[in-house]
Formats: sequence, C-alpha cells, structure tokens
Amino acid sequence: MYNFEARRIHEGPASIASLASLDYTGAMRPEDAITKHFRLDKNQIAALKRLGLATILDLLRHFPSRYESGGASVRVEGLSPGTKVTLVGTMKGLKAKKLWKSRRNITEGWFEDGSGRVKIMWFNQPYIASYIKEGSMVKVTGTVGGKEGNPYIANPEVEYLPPGVIPEGLFDAEKEAGAPGIFPIYPESRGITSLWFFHALKRIFESSVLAALEDPIPSSVRERYHLPDIATAIQWVHKPEKEDHATVARKRFSFEEIFTIQVARALDRKENDSQVSFPMPEAVSLSERFLASLDVKPTNAQKRAIDDILVDFQKPHPMARLLEGDVGSGKTLVAAATAYAVVNSRPPERKSGTLQAAYMAPTEILAQQHFQSFIRYFKHLPINIALITGSGCKKFPSKLKKGEATDISRTQLLKWVAGGEIAMVVGTHALIQKSLKFQHLAYAIVDEQHRFGTRQRRALAHKGDAAPHFLSMTATPIPRTLALTLYGDLDISVLDELPPGRAKISTMLLKPQDRAEAYEKVRDEIRKGHQAYVICPRINEPDPAKINALQAKSAKAEAKRLKEEVFPEFEIGLLHGAMKADEKDAVMTRFAAGEIQILVATSVIEVGINVPNATVILIEGAERFGLSQLHQLRGRVQRSSYPPSCFLLPETKSEVSMKRLKTLSESDDGFKLAEADLEARGAGDLFGKQQWGVSDLGMEALKNVKLIRAARDEAEHIVRSDGVTKYPALLSRISKIATELHTE
Ligand code: ADP
Ligand code: MG
Repeated sequence: MYNFEARRIHEGPASIASLASLDYTGAMRPEDAITKHFRLDKNQIAALKRLGLATILDLLRHFPSRYESGGASVRVEGLSPGTKVTLVGTMKGLKAKKLWKSRRNITEGWFEDGSGRVKIMWFNQPYIASYIKEGSMVKVTGTVGGKEGNPYIANPEVEYLPPGVIPEGLFDAEKEAGAPGIFPIYPESRGITSLWFFHALKRIFESSVLAALEDPIPSSVRERYHLPDIATAIQWVHKPEKEDHATVARKRFSFEEIFTIQVARALDRKENDSQVSFPMPEAVSLSERFLASLDVKPTNAQKRAIDDILVDFQKPHPMARLLEGDVGSGKTLVAAATAYAVVNSRPPERKSGTLQAAYMAPTEILAQQHFQSFIRYFKHLPINIALITGSGCKKFPSKLKKGEATDISRTQLLKWVAGGEIAMVVGTHALIQKSLKFQHLAYAIVDEQHRFGTRQRRALAHKGDAAPHFLSMTATPIPRTLALTLYGDLDISVLDELPPGRAKISTMLLKPQDRAEAYEKVRDEIRKGHQAYVICPRINEPDPAKINALQAKSAKAEAKRLKEEVFPEFEIGLLHGAMKADEKDAVMTRFAAGEIQILVATSVIEVGINVPNATVILIEGAERFGLSQLHQLRGRVQRSSYPPSCFLLPETKSEVSMKRLKTLSESDDGFKLAEADLEARGAGDLFGKQQWGVSDLGMEALKNVKLIRAARDEAEHIVRSDGVTKYPALLSRISKIATELHTE
C-alpha cells in the first residue's frame, strides 16, 4: 500500500520538515493568513501567491485537480505532446553540457518506466544532474513537448522518491492488492508540491477550523439535493477515503459554484428590473420605417430578434438581452433597426433633441467599420453620429464637407455628447471613460460582449438618469447551459439563419503530407485576386503571460517559412496578440486594402474582422482548437457569394482528433458544434477557459443540464424571497466569484 506517512518520514524534504516545526500561535481561523500558521520559504510564498492563495480558507478551497491511486496515472508509452503529466520511474544518464552556440546550459537524460523511456531536459539548471542520482526513483511533472512518436519533457518539476517507499505502492502490485491509497494531486506551481498541500491540509483538519466554516448553500437546499455540508465536503475532497467521497464532494462544490453564479445573476436581473427606462411610444413604427427603406429584406431570424427588442422597449424597465448569431448572420442590422427607433425618439417632455444610443466594439478596426455602417444606415437623418477611439474622434456629417465625416477633438465630442447634440456614438473601450457623459442614453449596444466585463457594461449603462436598454451581441455560439448560467441575467435572442446568397463553405481535412494541396488552392485564389489567412496553432502553455510571446514566435517563424519556401511571389503579413493595437491596425488596414495577400495570424483574427475578399483559410494545428473556435475562424472567409474554402491541417493523425474535426466538414451550425465541444472536451475547451473564469469544476457541471436547472430554480427562489442577506457566506462567495469571473 502506498504510504504517505512513510514517504514523509523517509523523504523529509525541507518543505515538509518545516511543517513539523511551526510556531503554532493560537487557534486557526478560516480568514487567517496562511503565513500566520505555516513557515514558508521564498519560493513557497511566491507559489501560493501565483495560485491566488492567501488565507486558510483559500487553501481549503484549493481543490485537487485529480487523484492518483498510489503512483502515476500515466506511463511513458502513452505520452502525447501538449499534455501535462506526472510520471513515476527512474532517471538515467543525466549529463550537463553547454550549448555551444547560445552558451546555454542544458542538462539531458532519460526517464524510464516499465513501458519505455522519454528524453528529459532542463535548461540553465546545471545543478540538476548533481542532485539526482543515476537510477534513482523520481516523480516527474511537466508538459510533454515534441511530436507524437518523438516526445520529450523540458524543464519538469522533479521530486526525489527514496527507495523502499514507492515500489510497493506502485502500479500493478497495488491494483492487485485492491486497496489503493488515494492521493490528491493539486494544481501545482513551481515551489510548492502536492505533498506540501497534503500535509498542510492535514494540519488544518486537525485544528478546529472546519467547525468554524459557514455554509454558503442553505441547509434546505442541501437536503433537497442530498449534498454534504461544507465541512464534510472539504474533508472528502482533500482526503477521500474512497472514490465516492471525492465524487460527492466535487458534485457539491460544482453545484455551489453554479448556484452562486446564478444567485449573482438573479440579483443583477432584479436590480435591472427595478430601474426605469425612457419610453419610446413610436419605436415599432420607426423600426418598420427603417426596414422598409433598406434594399435588402431582413431574414426571419432578424425580424424575430428585432421584435423581441421592440417588445422590451415598451416595458417600463430596461431591456437586458443577449443577441447570439453566427458570424455573418447580420447582427449589425438588428442593432441598426432598433437604434434607429431610439435616435428618432424624443426625450420625455422635450420639443427637440433625441434619445441617444451607444455602440461599443472590441477593437478599433471594428469600431471604424461600424461607424461607417451606421453612417450608411443613418446618413439621411438629421442626426450626428460620432466615433470615439483611443486614437481620436470623428463626427458625421462634417459641417464643411457634406456627406463626409470629419476629425473632431475629444473635448468637442465630450461636449456634444453631454449636450445631446450627438445622437449615436460608436467606439471602443474609450466609450466607458468617466469623462464621457450622455444627456439621454437610452440604448447601449455592446458587440462581442464576452470581451467586456459586466462592470464595464454597467459603467456604460449608468451614464444617464434613466437606465438604458442593454443589448449584448456575440458570435460565440454559447451552449444553452452555459448561457443559462453565465448570462442568467439576460434574455436571449438567436439569429439562426444566414442572409440569403451566402455561398456555402467547403471545409477540407488534410493529412500533414497533403498540405501542398492547400497551398495550391491558396495560390489559385490569390491569382484570381483573392486573399488568404493562415492561422497558426494555438499554444497550450500553463502560464497565460507566456502565451502571447510563444504564439508570436511561432507565427513569425511560419510567416518567414511561407515567404521563403512556399509563396515568395506574394506579400505576406503578420498578426499576433503580442503586437500593439496600432501595429495590428496598420496590418489589418493593409490587408483590407489588398496590399497583403496572405495574412499569417494567431487566433486573434477570430473576432469580427470583415475582409470580404479573403476566400481561403488554412488552419495549422487544427486539433488544438475547439470546434466552435474553428467554426468562428472559418467564418472569416464566408463573407460573400463567392464559395470559400477552409483547410484544416492537424498535426496528429490521432483518430479521435480526426473524427472530431470531421464534424466540422459535416456541420455548419455553430450551436451544434458548441454543444458537441461541450460534450467531447468540456466547456473549458470551448473558447479558452480564461474567458469565462469558471473553475474546472464549474465547467464540468455545465454538462449537467439537470444540475444547472436545479441551481437556477433555487437561485431564483432565494432572490425572489429576499433570502440572500440571511447567508453571509453566500454573499461572500458571490463577491469572490465576481472578482474571479473574467466578465467582471
Ligand atoms: P455579424 O455582425 O452578425 O457577423 P454583419 O452584421 O456584419 O454580421 O453582416 C454580415 C453581412 O451580411 C454584411 O455585409 C451585411 O450587410 C449583410 N446582411 C445582413 N443582413 C442581411 C440581409 N437581411 N440580407 C442581405 N444581406 C444582409
Ligand atoms: Mg458583427
């Protein structure tokens, strides 16, 4: 049997030894700083900080990411690049040497377990070779690099496992014995190990802290769904005696997280519904007039969404609505038809002037594009339209040049918006600065809202006296359970139909060796005067701070390779997240003008770029993206009646990946793809977890429709009955989650 106590005694690394010799001052309380009760070295302090753990309660709520029964769960033979693994085995042939070109130190060696061996290397840690003895038993944790079939692990964490302890507890011997010890594995950070957590928590459990914990879930709710109380659940999640303990505890915490978010959203909604909006008695006929003036007919889906919004406009409290529609489904038209009603309505008890509308876009390019669209839609009206971005302001129409926009100063813009002379303002984040005050802001539209926080949204909304109607638009197909939870405060309209005349996209899944086929197609399209995107693989890197730099490097290398080896005759541009906003804008402007034929980009182009002349897209490392992200990416070339093509170039030949990617060539329904993603890989993979800020546990729960509904019913009930204030622990979870949720 795998014995941690034995391991502790034999192993005795500094971090564990320090636990035994603490000055233990007084009783431990949940809100106490960890440093008050544990002696920590510099690395441990830094690691806890990186993990966002400050208090004892934080430690208790830092859940294991998985459990191991005794030894390692992964073996060398099953390694696949890009995954994070923990292996147990022996180190052999460690050698330190100096790389001659870069003068860098590298330590290389082989890690072996019963199933095979894998190369391990450390950079700039020449001392490693001296402290891991040849043939010693180690636990290695790191991310697998290299290629399928030729993997390596660079810079792993390594824990020395003394002989005599581990072998009995490992692998088959243990399974045969039928009594595995369950060891929690925590999301680790350099400087702190799972073993440290294991022992620290043991000490905390020995104190009286658990008894002092307040439960954020009301007991009646816990009883209804047979959920353990907080103290039991915390013990079970960290120190399960059987698998079932961990499962039940995790279920409780995922319910708690979803419930908390739902309560927060229900409170938001309640606050919204207590506010007053500007009346717009003519809204319906105004919108009809607008639609009649267009030379296109709105799709049925657009008509339904416009009706939803107009009905909301008639209500005494502000609208709070999410408009979801695939790329190209025509969300701008819905925004324009309804904004038209606003900018043609008078403020109450006024003989002149109009209500105001604001439209916030996620990037400067998009703000400019939409400024132009609104000018096209509204140019016949006697109203002023303005643009505000970080790099300047514009107004339409110009007093001097009829029918054109002109540059104005920020001061002028602020004055005219505050005075009500400007009816429609389009902008970036610059819209929500404090100095921008509206006179009668009646309608706030936010495009690609998951890029904006709820707080920013509110900042925009709270400018006027009465509260504006709020419309959030997104091209991200959000599975229902996720929408019900994260956007629980919003009503939802869906555009599930593309405007007519849009050519169908052909999506082709190529084997790595057939890549030339894709290049031929690109050449062909460019010769016809069209343009192309090449998307570089998404890089999985645990440290978000490093992602941009790594992506940038790979995109640069790919652009260089294409220019030198494949398309020397074409102009190739580069776009990645590490570029400054004005650099990105400059490249996009050149691409839009046709000066660049091939744009090599990381997934930054995902959001709303509109270059109708781009007709082909190549996606490298396609298996690293979620299906809905791929769907969004290919939407970039589906902007006209010309039939576009998308080439998926996966790096692996793994059957699972190929099968998953195949659904993309078979379906062009963004919602179906999002649901498929949720099923297959969990919501975390949908669009990058960072964007949602929901924990892994919460994400898992999002697959569970019954749980989501139950949590939602309970949340609505407790908010309706004004019960929230009776649960201080719930309120404190709400504010904790609010700061963690990226959308705040
Ligand atoms: P989204 O913002 O939803 O991605 P857009 O609003 O940019 O989509 O619209 C995409 C394109 O479709 C635009 O060129 C727009 O003019 C056009 N479009 C929108 N609605 C219709 C319609 N009902 N009929 C024809 N074309 C439309
Ligand atoms: Mg759009």
